[in-house]
Amino acid sequence: MEKIGFIGLGIMGKPMSKNLLKAGYGLTVFDINSEAVREIVQAGASEVSTCQAVAERSEIIITMLPDSPQLEQVVFGENGVLAGVRPGMLFIDMSTIAPATSQKVFAALQEKGVIALDAPVSGGQVGAEAGTLSIMVGGPEAGFQRAVPFFEKLGKNIVHIGDTGAGQVTKACNQIIVALTIQAVAEALTLAKKAGVDVARVREALLGGFAQSRILDLHGQRILDRNFKPGFKVKLHRKDMNIALQTGRELSVPLPASAIVTEQMDALLALGHGDADHSALALLAELLAGLKD
Ligand code: NAD
Repeated sequence: MEKIGFIGLGIMGKPMSKNLLKAGYGLTVFDINSEAVREIVQAGASEVSTCQAVAERSEIIITMLPDSPQLEQVVFGENGVLAGVRPGMLFIDMSTIAPATSQKVFAALQEKGVIALDAPVSGGQVGAEAGTLSIMVGGPEAGFQRAVPFFEKLGKNIVHIGDTGAGQVTKACNQIIVALTIQAVAEALTLAKKAGVDVARVREALLGGFAQSRILDLHGQRILDRNFKPGFKVKLHRKDMNIALQTGRELSVPLPASAIVTEQMDALLALGHGDADHSALALLAELLAGLKD
């Protein structure tokens, strides 16, 4: 079994690294949050104090970071990954970031003989914990084949989409559908609430019909429970929508509904809900409808 380095132990990275440990992989970890590191060390990982040291001790490096600036910091920063890599290593970024950043970071790694994959995921915290993530992969076939054995410990639907960046494009498509569906569920349940209809029964009825979706099921339940603890943070989804809109602009693809939902997310940030789960789009829909909690 190849030795894996894991950088970024947040909502997603923590359960993913635990699944790799459970599968028997030797893991070296790093995160700027020492509490998160402690939890994974207790589960069996080794701790080091720099990203460079993670690279020096590993054959494969996985990153699961919030956004592009953090990936650049981890790779290019002082004592970063780039300083510790050797030819033949495999680098896999599973974060959701701008395709342009992937290309820039990967080019620097490839110059050092490292094979790089973009492999963003879908399925959320629940999928990360259950090891049932959907993994969308861009990059060379040889790198993909080498990653499949441990991707299978993290996810169920593992698809090699195409060349470098193809995984991130797929993830942008995914985020459009998720955002617009949450907004649809939020608007529908707000309408039901203001009409004085039992919202739980509305959800139950719709789950048996054509409007059925995992989002109506899971996020609909969150909205009923007023459970806006993330999950997936509004500020991260807004980052993903910006990636989708930017990609649309570069390719002259209008994404009008995506733009509207991104504006709603901006409003949530302005109202101080950036760290809430993205199902908090319902809070805004209710506020605009003059409903109080
Ligand atoms: P998170 O904010 O919970 O975790 C990110 C982790 O990265 C944190 O532990 C943070 O301390 C660490 N970090 C930040 N800067 C660092 C640095 N310079 N060096 C080392 N560690 C650093 O985010 P998350 O929800 O786990 O999401 C991670 C990525 O996965 C994001 O790109 C997100 O868009 C994507 N994603 C999230 C979900 C979800 O449901 N949460 C689902 C699919 C994809």
